[in-house]
Amino acid sequence: MVVHICCSVDSWYFLQKIREKYPDEALIGFFYNPNIHPESEYQTRLIDSRRSCEQLGIAWMEGDYDPENWMAATRGLEEAPEKGARCAVCFDQRLLKTAELADRLGHATYTTTLLMSPKKDFSQLQNAADRLSLHYQARFIIEDFRKKGGTQAQFALAKQMAAYQQDYCGCLYALRAQRAAQNRPALELVTPLQGPDRLADRHRLYQKREALERAGQSPLLIRQRKMGWHLLKGGLWRLDGEAIKSEILAYSVGRYHLNTPLKRVDDEIALLQKQPGVVLARSFADRHGPSSASIRQALGLGPWDITPIFIVKSLPRGPLRVELEAVLDEESGGILAHFQ
Ligand code: SF4
Repeated sequence: MVVHICCSVDSWYFLQKIREKYPDEALIGFFYNPNIHPESEYQTRLIDSRRSCEQLGIAWMEGDYDPENWMAATRGLEEAPEKGARCAVCFDQRLLKTAELADRLGHATYTTTLLMSPKKDFSQLQNAADRLSLHYQARFIIEDFRKKGGTQAQFALAKQMAAYQQDYCGCLYALRAQRAAQNRPALELVTPLQGPDRLADRHRLYQKREALERAGQSPLLIRQRKMGWHLLKGGLWRLDGEAIKSEILAYSVGRYHLNTPLKRVDDEIALLQKQPGVVLARSFADRHGPSSASIRQALGLGPWDITPIFIVKSLPRGPLRVELEAVLDEESGGILAHFQ
């Protein structure tokens, strides 16, 4: 039986139940999810689904990551809600490749861990399988392991196995809708030009855990929640449009775009007049750096301050155009630890 795997949270419990119910079947886990965006998120889910199969002694295969085809198939359905028309197309695509693989490998049956997800519509999955039954030999196995406490047992097992817990279904459109409903920017769609890239860091974390476990170690994954600072854009300009080379100090938070006079405090410090904000000469930052907290302390603002601070070589004269879009957001991360 080819078992399409959408993610590791849904896979641990489902694979065990399927094996229990179909003890004579040789199972193959098949990770085919071109819906997942961005690619670093796809890679993290892939690694963790492979881990669940490896630890359960189940063969595992990866399908093509072909998000362009998925995007083309769902064009025009970008705004459809979850459980709507876009999800039907998404299931069609993923189950089609699974049925195709089952036929190619000579397996009589196939199924999907999507059946385990409380947010998926069972009838949409059944309808997709019914359509495929006209074209493929392999028979779809539909099992509802969610009943009788299955969902709770699934989450408890995923927690016990420290599975990677994604916080959105997978596609770009669901992610955007979810973040808009949460009134949070979709930072998963931002790749920093410099500084930490949280999705890449998370991918490396799960990659490292996999490598350590394959080497026979048992690292403990300690989940973290932390505050992240994200600079989306910002800068200083003279009113004639000439850009002023500037750096924005970490944890400068704000959203504004305005022309403002400056009030000079001394040769190194000037204050924006229309919004909280400081323009600082590089000599001051160099003397009190290197950290954002130490520079803020030296200004008397305190280590937890989030006032926007722009660092320039020397203080400009005259009013400025100031642009800033920088947010704080809660992030999940983790560290690997060994306990003797
Ligand atoms: S919300 Fe989930 S199931 Fe629906 S289209 Fe997006 S990734 Fe696919």
